[in-house]
Amino acid sequence: MIDNVLAEQNFILGREVKELETAIASYIRGKYAIAVASGTDALLLALKAAGVGNGDEVITTPFTFVATADTILLAGATPVFVDIDHTTFNIDPELIKKAITKKTKAIIPVHLYGLSCDMDSIMKIAREDSLIVIEDVAQAFGGRWGEKRLGSIGLAGCFSFFPSKNLGCFGDGGMVVTSDLRVAEKVEMLRKHGGRDKYNVDMLGHNSRLDTLQAAILLAKFRHIDKWNKGRRIVAELYNKELCGINGLELPAVNPKAYHVYHQYTIRTKRRDELHRHLKDKGIGSMVYYPVPLHMQKVFNGVTNIVSSLKNSENAANEVLSLPIEPLQTLDETMYVVKMIKEFLR
Ligand SMILES: *Cc1c(COP(=O)(O)O)cnc(C)c1O
Repeated sequence: MIDNVLAEQNFILGREVKELETAIASYIRGKYAIAVASGTDALLLALKAAGVGNGDEVITTPFTFVATADTILLAGATPVFVDIDHTTFNIDPELIKKAITKKTKAIIPVHLYGLSCDMDSIMKIAREDSLIVIEDVAQAFGGRWGEKRLGSIGLAGCFSFFPSKNLGCFGDGGMVVTSDLRVAEKVEMLRKHGGRDKYNVDMLGHNSRLDTLQAAILLAKFRHIDKWNKGRRIVAELYNKELCGINGLELPAVNPKAYHVYHQYTIRTKRRDELHRHLKDKGIGSMVYYPVPLHMQKVFNGVTNIVSSLKNSENAANEVLSLPIEPLQTLDETMYVVKMIKEFLR
C-alpha cells in the first residue's frame, strides 16, 4: 500500500485518505468521516465546526490528556471542569447537571482508557438543555455503548491515530466522525485553511491534513482492529480473574452496557508509587495516566470555571497505575505481572 502512495506521489489527502474516511465512517456508523492531522485537531475543528467559540462554556473532565481541554481554549471558549466517578474514572453525569449555566454550549465526554462514559445520562442532559456533545474517542476506537459505536452518539466523535492508540499510525493523525452534514462540511473546509478550494477562502481555518502515507498504513492496520481489541480484552479478563480480591487493590470498572477496549488497564492503590517502583525493578513498564489533573496545571490557571470539588480526580491522580496491555501479550507475560503485583501487595 505504501508502494502505491509512492508511485502516485499524491502525498497529502490522496486516494487512500478518502478510502480510510469511507471505511471508518462505515465502521463507526456515522455518515461522514474527515481525516485531519491529529486527535487534537479533530477536537479543535469539531468544536469550531459546531459553532463553539467566544463566550461559550464547555463542560469536561480534568482527568484526561491536556488536548481535551486546551482545544476548548484554542476555540475561544472556557473549559468548565467537573469531577469524575470514582470507579469508572469518567465524568460524573450528576455533576454535569449542576455545572450548566446560561453560557454552557457543549459537553466533551472522554471515554477514558477505552471505557464508554454513561452516554444515556449524558445525552439526556444534553437534550434537556440543548447542549452539543462532542465525544473524545482518542482512547476508545472500536468501543461501544450498547449497540452504538463510540463516536457515533454525540454530534461528533474525535479520534486520534497517535502511534500508541488502539488504532495508531506511524506519526500523527486524527479523524472527525459525524452524521451532521453542516459539521462535516465545515470540518472539511477548516482543515484546509477554511476554503472550499485554494483560492476561495471563506473563513479562518487551519492546515490540518492527513498524509496519504499515514492513511495507507491505517487502512492496513484497520483490518485487524477488532481482533486486536479482542486481544486486549483477553488480557484484561486474565488480570480481572487473577487480581480480584486483593486487599487495597481496585480493578477497572466493568459496565455490562459498555464494550471496553482497554486502551489502558488501570488499577488503583494507595501504595501506587511503591508498586510502580517495584514493577520497574522487576522489568515491568507500568505507567501513570494522569499524574496531574488539568485544573492543577498552569495553562488552565484563571481561564477555567471550577464550580465544585474535583477530589475524585485529585485522588485518582495519586492512586492510578496502568499495567502493560497489548493485543499480542502472552499468557506468561500477563501472569508475570500478576505474580509481581501479588508478591508486593501480599
Ligand atoms: C491522545 C489523546 C488526544 C490527542 O490526540 P493527538 O493525536 O495526540 O493529538 C486527545 N484526547 C485524549 C483523551 C487522548 O488520549
